Amino acid sequence: MKKVKKRKLNIKKLIILLIPIIIVSILLINISNLITLYQSKITGYNIDTINVFHELNVYNDIKKHEYSDTLEKIIKTEYYNKNYLNKYLNINYYDKDNFFENINKLLDLGYTSEDINMIYDKLSDESISLLIENDYLKDIINILKLTYFHENKLDRYLKYNKNNELSYENLITYVNANLDYTYYTNVINIDDPENVLVIVNKYHKLDNNFVPSDLEAIDPKYNRGFNNKMRHEARLAFEEMCKAALDDGITIYSGSAYRSYSYQLNLYNRYVATNGFDDAETFSARAGYSEHQTGLATDIMNAKLDFISANDKEYDWLINNSYKYGFHLRYPKGKENITGYMYEEWHFRYLGVDVATKLYEENITYDEYVARN
Ligand SMILES: [Zn+2]
Repeated sequence: MKKVKKRKLNIKKLIILLIPIIIVSILLINISNLITLYQSKITGYNIDTINVFHELNVYNDIKKHEYSDTLEKIIKTEYYNKNYLNKYLNINYYDKDNFFENINKLLDLGYTSEDINMIYDKLSDESISLLIENDYLKDIINILKLTYFHENKLDRYLKYNKNNELSYENLITYVNANLDYTYYTNVINIDDPENVLVIVNKYHKLDNNFVPSDLEAIDPKYNRGFNNKMRHEARLAFEEMCKAALDDGITIYSGSAYRSYSYQLNLYNRYVATNGFDDAETFSARAGYSEHQTGLATDIMNAKLDFISANDKEYDWLINNSYKYGFHLRYPKGKENITGYMYEEWHFRYLGVDVATKLYEENITYDEYVARN
């Protein structure tokens, strides 16, 4: 009897002892849930995400930052990479195929969170795949902001970037100007040859039969013994420029202006025969690729009837004044890789005052201008 009573008492004691423990435990669990709920409320993340943050021991880091949809979603996937935690925080979420995989690959390549936001904002899935397959493209944010960035040329920009340490403006400009192609390949046949702004270069060809409809002889005063012709508008501008030069004591003449396709063909062939192919290519256009066939270009001579050279006072005058009459030094020094021609101090192209002034002010070639417009 005695024994049984004692056991009963012990059980009672035990129960009395257990009740507060159970109550405290329940309270503690609830408090922990309450804390999680509170943390979810202040950070914006779901409760289960908060629990993952605690498991990964990153909650204290994350709570200092604004809510990130991308982090919320990626942290529960196999793609979560703890080294990129701070980067995910600043990447906007895009509901696109392979988003997590792609942002990891872009981060691996060296793109920043800001770069990735811009990339996803501006580029198609196909273009993003191209970026991932290639080397890091520096200044991508600036590139994507350029008005003359063309997404359909992205593969060419990326290829041209591989061997070139160009500024981002030049990278885009040069590819737009087709400089990633060998000269005289990927040629475009010009369909508006009478447009005053027509571009003729080693990638843009005039029809063999094209002859401008309004060719006129230049005033003999400025055309010593050559009977050169230019198109009406260019002829008037050239004569006006010659007159203005004379007023400043500078004498200039047209040494060569319009040339037909067949004339250019003979000229080019003669240069190749005399100077060799490689050399001729640097200063003579193949037939159909010469600005002279447009009737808008002229090679200018000095008072001694020599083609202008950089040491002539006539050259200085032209450099400082020709744009006012719509003319532009077409093949300048230092731009040989862009124009495809050696420095030609004498070759001027009529483009009208507006464009010639822009080229003068920006110190760019017409090829660059076209590539940026
Ligand atoms: Zn010329």
